[in-house]
Amino acid sequence: MSFDSLGLRPEILQAIQETGYTDPTPIQSTAIPLILEGKDLIGIAQTGTGKTAAFTLPMLEKLVQSAGQRKGRGSRALVLSPTRELVVQIEQNVKTYAKHVPLRVATVYGGVGETPQKKALRSGVDLIIATPGRLMDLMQQGCADFSECEFFVLDEADRMLDMGFLPNVRKIVSSLPKKRQTLLFSATLSKEIEKLTREFQHSPKFVEIGKRTNPADTVEQFLYEVTKAQKIGLLQHLLENNELYMVLVFTRTKYGADRVAKQLGKSGIHTGAIHSNRTQNQRARALSDFKAGKIRVLVATDIAARGIDVEGITHVVNLDFPPTPEDYIHRIGRTGRAKSEGVAISFITEDDRNPLRSLERFMKKSIIRRRSKEFVCTPLPYNAGPSKGSDRGGAKGQGNRPSNTKRRRSKPYGLDRKNFKKFGK
Ligand code: AMP
Repeated sequence: MSFDSLGLRPEILQAIQETGYTDPTPIQSTAIPLILEGKDLIGIAQTGTGKTAAFTLPMLEKLVQSAGQRKGRGSRALVLSPTRELVVQIEQNVKTYAKHVPLRVATVYGGVGETPQKKALRSGVDLIIATPGRLMDLMQQGCADFSECEFFVLDEADRMLDMGFLPNVRKIVSSLPKKRQTLLFSATLSKEIEKLTREFQHSPKFVEIGKRTNPADTVEQFLYEVTKAQKIGLLQHLLENNELYMVLVFTRTKYGADRVAKQLGKSGIHTGAIHSNRTQNQRARALSDFKAGKIRVLVATDIAARGIDVEGITHVVNLDFPPTPEDYIHRIGRTGRAKSEGVAISFITEDDRNPLRSLERFMKKSIIRRRSKEFVCTPLPYNAGPSKGSDRGGAKGQGNRPSNTKRRRSKPYGLDRKNFKKFGK
C-alpha cells in the first residue's frame, strides 16, 4: 500500500514525501483509513511503529476538511501525552506534516512559563498538544475552550495510568463535547485500559500491531549478570567498543543518572543526563546535544525518557533493570525505531531475578545471557579525525563508526576474565 491510496489530500502527501517516507508502516496503513472514516480507535502499538503519524496524518486531514464549520475560537483537537518531551515530539511531527496546510498548533506542558501558553490558547488554535497536569491548571484559569473539540487523542495511555494522571485526564475529558472522535494509543493492553476505552470511546475499532508481549523485532537483546559494584566499570568497558555509538543508559533514580553521567564524563566520555529534577531547558539541551552527536551517551530515568525519539540510537543499556515488563519494552523501543536495528543490553544483579523472570514470562522467551568469561572484548579500531561538532570520533573512549562500514552485531560486547577483574570488588 502507498500513502497515495490512503485518502489524504495532496498538501499532506507532499509533506510526507518531503519527510522522505516511502511507504506507510503497518499501523499507518491500517489506522489511517479507519480514522478518516470517523471511527474511534484503540491502537496497541509498540514505540517506533510510526504511531504518531498514524494519528496525526488523518487528524490533520479531518481538521482541514472541517475548518469552514468552525463557529467560535474554541480548539478543535486535543492530544494528551504523558511527558513534555513527547508533547514536543508530537508537535514536531505535526509541524512537519502540516507545513502545507493552514492549521494552528499550541503546546501546553509544565516546567516552563504559563504566559505564552495562555496567550496561545486564548488566540484560538486548532490543535492543542498537552500534558494533563499543566492543561488542567490552565483550564481551571479559564484559558482553554473545548466546546468545539471534534478530535481527542490519548497517547501512551498505559503510561498515563502508571504516572497517576488518570484523575486529571478524566476531568479534561469531561469538559470535551460528547460528540467527538476519540483515539487511544497504548503500548500494552490491560484491564484498566479496556475500562478507559469503554469510558471514553464509542464502539472503537481495534488495531494491534506486533505481538503485545514482544518488543520490537528489530532489537537484539541480551544481558550480563553483574554485582552492583561492577556496573559502572562494565559500562565503561563496553563503551570502549565503537559499536556503542549512540547510547541511551537507563538508571532507576535521578541521583543514579547524575552519578553515572559524572563518572563517564570523568573517564572522557561525553555524557548528558535527563531526569525530572532537570529544568526543561537542561533536558532539551541534553536531547539536542545527543541528537547532534555532541554527546555520545545519554543517561535517563524512565519518566524522562518517555519522549525520546532520537533516530539512530544504537544501544539501550539497562544499567538498572526495569521494575516491570512494560518499562522494559518502552525502554528498548528507544532503539531499533522504524526500520533500523538496535541492541538492548541489560545488567542483572541478584536483586533483579524476579523482575527478569516476570519479563521473560511476559515476552514468552529468554534473553540471551552473556557471561564475562565466555566472550573476549574486541573493540573496533578507532577512525582518525573527529567529525566537526561531534564527539563521536577521534578521542579514545569515544565511538567512531566509520560511515562506510556496517555495524557488526554479534560478539564484541563480551569481556575477558582479565578485564572483568578490574570491575569486581
Ligand atoms: P513513532 O512510533 O511515532 O514514535 O515513530 C517512530 C519513528 O518512525 C519516527 O522517527 C518517525 O519519524 C518514523 N516514521 C514514521 N512513519 C514512518 C514511515 N512511514 N516510514 C519511515 N519512518 C517513519
